[in-house]
Amino acid sequence: MKKKTKPIVAYFCMEYGLKSDFHIYAGGLGILAGDYLKGAGDQGYPLVGIGIKWKQGYTTQVINTEGFPVDTYPIYEYDFLEDTGITVEVIIRKRPVFCKVWKCNQFGNADLYLLDTDLPQNEDPWITGQLYGWFGEERIAQEMILGIGGVRALRALKIPVDIYHFNEGHALLAGIELISEKMDRGLSFEAAWQTTKKEIVFTTHTPVIQGNESHPLDRLMYMGANISLKRSQLRKIGGSPFNMTVGALRMAKISNAVARLHGITAKEMWKKVKNKSEIIAITNGIHKPTWVDPKMLESADKSNQIIWNTHQRNKKKLIDFIYRRKGVKLDEEKLIIGFSRRAVPYKRSDLIFGNPRLIYPLLKSGKIQIVFSGKGHPLDDTGKKIVYRLVSMQKKFPNAVVFLENYDMEIGALLTRGTDVWLNNPRRPKEASGTSGMKAAMNGVLNLSILDGWWPEACQHGINGWQIGDTLVPDDEKDQDERDERALYQVLLNQVIPTYYEDRNKWIEMMRASILSTENEFSVERMLDEYIRLMYLHR
Ligand SMILES: *Cc1c(COP(=O)(O)O)cnc(C)c1O
Repeated sequence: MKKKTKPIVAYFCMEYGLKSDFHIYAGGLGILAGDYLKGAGDQGYPLVGIGIKWKQGYTTQVINTEGFPVDTYPIYEYDFLEDTGITVEVIIRKRPVFCKVWKCNQFGNADLYLLDTDLPQNEDPWITGQLYGWFGEERIAQEMILGIGGVRALRALKIPVDIYHFNEGHALLAGIELISEKMDRGLSFEAAWQTTKKEIVFTTHTPVIQGNESHPLDRLMYMGANISLKRSQLRKIGGSPFNMTVGALRMAKISNAVARLHGITAKEMWKKVKNKSEIIAITNGIHKPTWVDPKMLESADKSNQIIWNTHQRNKKKLIDFIYRRKGVKLDEEKLIIGFSRRAVPYKRSDLIFGNPRLIYPLLKSGKIQIVFSGKGHPLDDTGKKIVYRLVSMQKKFPNAVVFLENYDMEIGALLTRGTDVWLNNPRRPKEASGTSGMKAAMNGVLNLSILDGWWPEACQHGINGWQIGDTLVPDDEKDQDERDERALYQVLLNQVIPTYYEDRNKWIEMMRASILSTENEFSVERMLDEYIRLMYLHR
């Protein structure tokens, strides 16, 4: 048989960030998936996405008068989705659940099929209610819809799939369905598993061990997620409790981490897992037309004045947006630092406030202005307290600290175009890749970042951005925090601020270097090309 050069791929993901107000995404994973589908669409690559049409999306998170984040759940309806006329059935808790299949290709993306249980004939139409909203049985039900329902939708749509790409472990039950299909045709479990392995590739995203989901085997059996498999067979795949990442590593012909450093971390993290696929590294990339101002890209080989003016226009757009939303007018002649991330402890959103003696005078005088955004997970009080602390800094320095509530793609785009510096200071090595820094870099917004995720691959300190600290990370978290805080101030006070105010030409040369050194390397085209060569065609 002739080897295909373009295997047909079905890409599975819980979330997709295609457009700011299409609320089927929560954060980085979805943004990556959305960009990937657009990249495949641009290149005409034969790939379809499988996802879920979330009725309420993730959370619409607003700040109440006490400064605390509050989750609201509007119901969203979209008039641009196409009804495929197809409904598939998944048996959950011994009862049939019907899933309607919608199609979406309005955003230049490869066809995306979305499953939806919100139908009158379902006893539980709420399975596709909230993205990452529920745990336990409800989460398994959601994963059954995505994985099992997803494969059944592909069959009903008569799409001849060569490769099933699981973007994160949530999609793993699709593999159980693929094995069951073959067992139903008479193959033994082992033979079905081995054959299925040739069809699956897996991308892992989570270097934080608790972020890798697992479910008790009994619960999976009770839900019917095993389909034709026995308990002992499920256990062979994912262990007990059944770990979704372990299962996916054992079900794939090849797996990947999302940056080189993450590749090293992931290999170390899963080294005790037997019978797993190889883990390679493919660094994430972004869809430039979505995130990067084309004028900024063009300006990179024009004069310093043109680069600067183009950037200042983006900066003014951000300042106007903040003025409209908050009634606060930031100063376009002064440095603006951007920081927007999920509010979780390891990202250390408030590290920059660690030393009041050094930082408060700079905020008081307006020499630095900081714009924050980010949501805490609805069920995570620690994350919400982080948001609360950022909001209280805004109260303390109303003209220099801004918190933009309800972080979404619109805010993401404005911030990564219109700030001057993009700050990133997670505990290392916990950030798998990060893509917001890539957006910033290509817009001439200079990265000031810990050497984590994608940044070690791009950083030329003092040339296209700055590194905070180095790669020597103390084991103790408190030591790490203190060390990184000192390193952050060191670079900020001795390099970033003086360059911005006293050496504008050098600053602009750094912006130019930032754009030129990242625009090809961290684009979704390069990423797609690597996935095709190293994963889809792997044998
Ligand atoms: C780009 C983007 C992300 C990903 O950001 P990282 O912090 O780099 O992982 C998440 N959310 C939104 C809204 C984005 O635009």
